[in-house]
Amino acid sequence: MEQIRDSGDALVPGRGLLVGQVAIVTGAAQGIGLAIADTFLAHGASVMVVDVDEAKVEAVVKERTGLPVAGTRCDVTREKDQEALVRATLDAFGRIDVLVNNAGITRDRYMTKMSVADFEAVLDVSLKGAWLGTRAVSGLFRQQRSGAIVNMSSLSGKIGNPGQTNYSAAKAGLIGLTKAAAKELGPSGVRVNAVQPGLVRTEMTLSMKPEIFAAKEAEVPMGRAGEPDEVANAVLFLASPLASYVNGAVLEVTGGRGI
Ligand code: NAD
Repeated sequence: MEQIRDSGDALVPGRGLLVGQVAIVTGAAQGIGLAIADTFLAHGASVMVVDVDEAKVEAVVKERTGLPVAGTRCDVTREKDQEALVRATLDAFGRIDVLVNNAGITRDRYMTKMSVADFEAVLDVSLKGAWLGTRAVSGLFRQQRSGAIVNMSSLSGKIGNPGQTNYSAAKAGLIGLTKAAAKELGPSGVRVNAVQPGLVRTEMTLSMKPEIFAAKEAEVPMGRAGEPDEVANAVLFLASPLASYVNGAVLEVTGGRGI
């Protein structure tokens, strides 16, 4: 696991919801994770951009030279990578206040055709990855008696989607993880919450057949898919002091789909 840092001066704007805070965002090389990283930066946080795709991490950091951003390659399914990520973030910024477990993958197929490998891969990234990340910061968060963790679930984890038995199980599992961790860490002043986005325009969904995307979009009461920054704003709220008494909650960001 290699660490990539930009050479710019730390820029901490004077206002914003996360001024002076340090956040780790996984799966942040693109899509929703990148929108979260940029939203956090705009609100004064220092951000560790984390992804399994090292080239994209490097590009994201380079494009943000001058901002308080660092990047590191980390496969969230690997215990050693997650532990090294905590060390790298402390080395880069000296503290950790927020962890967003956002990394996720899909391997859609009807159950009869789904391999065990595809089932396990999806659970490993979304569910085991979030558990490893939560565990890796929990000692530090307990010790400092503060911290906010946000887990990226999905509407699929609430309503279940055909062709996504693996993904729906992983995303529902994240709710159990969120609530159990909220109870374990709450007494130490650490909050753990989850976001359940519906259909959001990213590479993950734009790789769907256009007619399937359109059919899903037609189910949205607001009549449109969401944008990554609309999810990022909900994550910002849960990570920020505005949510100081929100713990173990699941926030749906779906335009009203699946309610
Ligand atoms: P995306 O595919 O655009 O981005 C996911 C990122 O995660 C990629 O950069 C990828 O390299 C990274 N990643 C994959 N495996 C990893 C691993 N083992 N370790 C570290 N990083 C890894 O997807 P997105 O649409 O931005 O989705 C982000 C999150 O939001 C996912 O958890 C997804 O399940 C969830 N989500 C997305 C939607 C949607 O409509 N796009 C809806 C609900 C939930």
